[in-house]
Amino acid sequence: MATIFSKIIAGEIPCHKVYEDERVLAFLDISPLSPGHTLVIPKEPAPYLEELSEDSAAALGRALPKIARAVIAATGCKAYNVLQNNRAEAHQAVFHVHFHIIPKPNEDEGLEIGWSPGRLDDAAAKGLLAKIRAAL
Ligand code: 5GP
Repeated sequence: MATIFSKIIAGEIPCHKVYEDERVLAFLDISPLSPGHTLVIPKEPAPYLEELSEDSAAALGRALPKIARAVIAATGCKAYNVLQNNRAEAHQAVFHVHFHIIPKPNEDEGLEIGWSPGRLDDAAAKGLLAKIRAAL
């Protein structure tokens, strides 16, 4: 299903383009959490990370550090978060894979994270490992 990002890739909707190559596009987020908040997306219209092809994944892997370095250089902000949401329950609003690069210049700007860690139980970890490894 076409999303707003497909229209941006097609040039039907404008964006503030940061970077483009054969497989990847990066542009400034329209509602930034901080100056320099950038979205890095594959041109492939996969809705979720686990559906992305290896070629797009590799291209994103090459582009992300390069774009992060440029955002750091431009903003002067070395602290940043990379965020990638999958499905509405996990706060995904646009169903086209995207990575947020979000500078964290101070406490008030950038990503705020609620983090409530548990404790890894040994028996549960072994059971999970067996299932995850079998699925790889
Ligand atoms: P998500 O919650 O899906 O991870 O984030 C989607 C992001 O896309 C949001 O941060 C939102 O501001 C951004 N966004 C949505 N529509 C547009 C648009 O038309 N242009 C740009 N540049 N960003 C958009």
